Amino acid sequence: MESGRMLFLARVFATHAIVGYALVRGFTDADPRVGIVFGLLPDVDLCFPAEWGWPLVHRAVTHTPLFALAIVAGAYAVTRERTIALAAGLAIGSHLAIDSLSPGGIDWLFPLETTWSPGIAVHGLFATVALWAVSIGILAWRSDVFSQFSTG
Ligand SMILES: [Zn+2]
Repeated sequence: MESGRMLFLARVFATHAIVGYALVRGFTDADPRVGIVFGLLPDVDLCFPAEWGWPLVHRAVTHTPLFALAIVAGAYAVTRERTIALAAGLAIGSHLAIDSLSPGGIDWLFPLETTWSPGIAVHGLFATVALWAVSIGILAWRSDVFSQFSTG
């Protein structure tokens, strides 16, 4: 794999991981590392052999609301904790939301092929900086650092 492609994928993975981590840390009581796992989960399709074909190609079944619902239901079935299910939903949902805005889009109505997208460069430099800034803002908001000043 060429180095430019590897750097692109590293940036994409890091963005999905930090957004998932920040959302879980900011809006649930779950371990925020759950956000990293489920924030990255849809891209497991990059590991599938090409000969498997559709729907196991990149941005097919693992990038659908149907898959996300199955994962959330599965997380709840295994853990019996609504917090974990919420965390999984936030993280995987953030991945789908980000990717759905990109030029490749996602199949919102899978198994129908309905890839529509506004074609925003969500993995470009500007959007990456914006996503990281919002994530860091959420982490700062939920950080205990600021509360130390108010308690004296
Ligand atoms: Zn993806």
